[in-house]
Amino acid sequence: QRRTLIAGNWKMNGRRADGLALASDLAGRLKGAGEVPFELLVCPPFPLLFPVGEAISDSPLLLGAQDCAVKQHGAHTGDVSAQMLVDAGCRFVIVGHSERRQDHAEGDALIAAKAAAAHAEGLIAIVCVGETEAERDAGQANAVVSRQLAGSLPAGATAANTVVAYEPVWAIGTGKTATPQDVADMHAHIRAELAGKVDAADGVRILYGGSVKPGNAAELMAVPNVDGALVGGASLKADDFWAIAASC
Ligand code: 13P
Repeated sequence: QRRTLIAGNWKMNGRRADGLALASDLAGRLKGAGEVPFELLVCPPFPLLFPVGEAISDSPLLLGAQDCAVKQHGAHTGDVSAQMLVDAGCRFVIVGHSERRQDHAEGDALIAAKAAAAHAEGLIAIVCVGETEAERDAGQANAVVSRQLAGSLPAGATAANTVVAYEPVWAIGTGKTATPQDVADMHAHIRAELAGKVDAADGVRILYGGSVKPGNAAELMAVPNVDGALVGGASLKADDFWAIAASC
């Protein structure tokens, strides 16, 4: 019922030539693979969206962005609207990544507004949640994630327009991954929290993110309520990203 989604968050990496080579490589592998049991998504930095979008337009490889503005156009220097993302060929946009929560002091209300702006343009919002190491050590992980979900999911969120990504902050780019049991517990908690907040909550895909690699992907993707991965570092190498997808 929930189609596995393997998403690559390129973060602030790569120039035009790198992004084009990576996306074309992945598009070629997808084409060669025929029917696959997953959707494959790449989320390049803003300047690469148009060239990458054009390069993969005839491929099932999906395009997403890493953030969007709340407003659709106008005097908002430095912002990029959901409309512009659609224009570039995006189907998805990540909102509320912990790096934006930290680096740009984004809070739940702003993230919910960004997700709503994405929905208004027909984009699927990947809403990120996750606790810090100190919060987990203090036994607050579930409470933190509950609060983030309550604040960051906009009215009108459905299984069709919203994906949740659980990314424990302490597992991002550190090589540390949550144990399968921790992931199972948190994803079950998120699933329960979604009931009542989101239409057709059972259909919402919940991704795990944080140091997902070819070596641990099969184990993590086999955990109940894990419907895919949000991959950072390992999504920058076609071999690694493809191996993660292939392990589903
Ligand atoms: P890493 O896979 O590099 O740990 O990053 C995870 C992440 O933040 C994806 O959004």
